[in-house]
Amino acid sequence: MDERQFYNERPETKNLSLVCPHCRQEGSYPIRWVVRMKKKDLPRGAGEEDRKRFATARSYMVRVDELVACRNLRCRKRFELTGQSVVLVSDAGSPPPGDFDPDTFGNR
Ligand SMILES: [Zn+2]
Repeated sequence: MDERQFYNERPETKNLSLVCPHCRQEGSYPIRWVVRMKKKDLPRGAGEEDRKRFATARSYMVRVDELVACRNLRCRKRFELTGQSVVLVSDAGSPPPGDFDPDTFGNR
């Protein structure tokens, strides 16, 4: 069974404050993520192996964007995003608030 069947998937965009490494200008950038929330119940047709994998599965989100283009019109250079590209999300419900910092979120 495909692991994706364990999750309800939805796109999400979060604004992140980033500093351009070329011109040092800070800006707010909308970064796209895909949120995979673990389903409440195991999908139909799951076997013993799927059951074990489902038991240890966690909700998480994956960053889609790898690069952003600097907003400074005199710079406009593209730079890579740093920090975690995969972040665990609480199974209890909503993902963290919009201003969370993915660099530290996983360490709490
Ligand atoms: Zn720049």
